[in-house]
Amino acid sequence: MNILLCAKQVPDTTQVKINPVTNTLIRDGVPAILNPFDTYALEAAARIKDKYPDTKIVVLSMGPENAKNALKECLAVAADKAYLVTGRPFGGSDTLATSYILANAVKKVEELEGTKFDAIFCGKQAIDGDTAQVGPELAEHLGYPQVTCALECELKDNRLEVLKEGQDNNMIIGVRLPCVLTFTKPGFNPRYPNIRRRMAANRAEIPIITSEDLTEIDSACIGLKGSPTRVKKSFVSQKKGAGMIVREETAEKTSAKLIALLSDAHII
Ligand SMILES: Cc1cc2nc3c(=O)[nH]c(=O)nc-3n(C[C@H](O)[C@H](O)[C@H](O)COP(=O)(O)OP(=O)(O)OC[C@H]3O[C@@H](n4cnc5c(N)ncnc54)[C@H](O)[C@@H]3O)c2cc1C
Repeated sequence: MNILLCAKQVPDTTQVKINPVTNTLIRDGVPAILNPFDTYALEAAARIKDKYPDTKIVVLSMGPENAKNALKECLAVAADKAYLVTGRPFGGSDTLATSYILANAVKKVEELEGTKFDAIFCGKQAIDGDTAQVGPELAEHLGYPQVTCALECELKDNRLEVLKEGQDNNMIIGVRLPCVLTFTKPGFNPRYPNIRRRMAANRAEIPIITSEDLTEIDSACIGLKGSPTRVKKSFVSQKKGAGMIVREETAEKTSAKLIALLSDAHII
């Protein structure tokens, strides 16, 4: 099986501090990490490779030159090859433009690797942008079926059986290949790299893909001018108290309790 993992390098939010004057995040000097949700997607791919050792895992990231560090982390854990999509024309891309560029890059990597990918794995969301839009948009650009919020998956009869997290109940969904899956946090921890793989990853050459390599791309659909959305303001939201969860034996009792609480607090 051939799996392509989309991985994003993100600021380590546990290290982000707040500027007390502007009340915005101080990103300078903040260490970058592999997006945690992408580590879950990588673990899912590695588990398939454990079972089917001829599985090939290729990682793709769009970002600045230093995003190679996130790619090397993937190589150290389980990936066989990594590609970085980078260049000025891609700067300022929103999720629509990002997924369009990634879709074109998937086709380019298929051409370079001389093989088609059976599945594209993504994290559910990136912890900086937090939109959770790139995976589903990528599936649309490629015309592939998709399953979001995957916890685990298994190859069965040329399909993937996906354990999907639901709000109240989990479900198992069968999806034909090729497909896009986005992964959320499973009940187990992703594996750590061993020293041999870590050293090999540090030495690995990571090929670069630029806008010139993506000959099919429409330059009007990338970067700022290809992005219909803009982040107008970024700020830290004010905490509004601890909150509480109302859960009674039945939905009727829960809603009655909620109404009573809101009414007592003169909110309704
Ligand atoms: C604070 C902030 C707010 C933003 N808000 C918006 C917004 O409201 N609307 C908007 O259109 N854009 C927004 N952006 C821009 C957005 O971050 C970029 O478009 C980004 O490239 C993808 O969006 P995301 O981080 O939300 O990804 P998500 O959709 O949350 O990422 C899901 C998964 O897609 C894959 N993926 C995402 N980006 C990449 C990448 N560059 N390379 C490889 N794989 C990737 C990963 O597997 C990731 O786990 C915002 C950025 C920031 C920093």
